[in-house]
Amino acid sequence: MTCPICGNEHTGKLSKSRYFCSNCFVEIFYTRKSQLQLFQILEDGTTCAIPTEA
Ligand SMILES: [Zn+2]
Repeated sequence: MTCPICGNEHTGKLSKSRYFCSNCFVEIFYTRKSQLQLFQILEDGTTCAIPTEA
């Protein structure tokens, strides 16, 4: 899984459809329809959805 934001190829796998880029602190999540969703992980541990253009 390559990070769609920074191109980092060493993303961590959280689960079957969830990945994490430690480079830009973004969680990459694939929905059942294979749509890409991005979540910015904030300093307090909460996540913030990043709008993506499908
Ligand atoms: Zn990244």
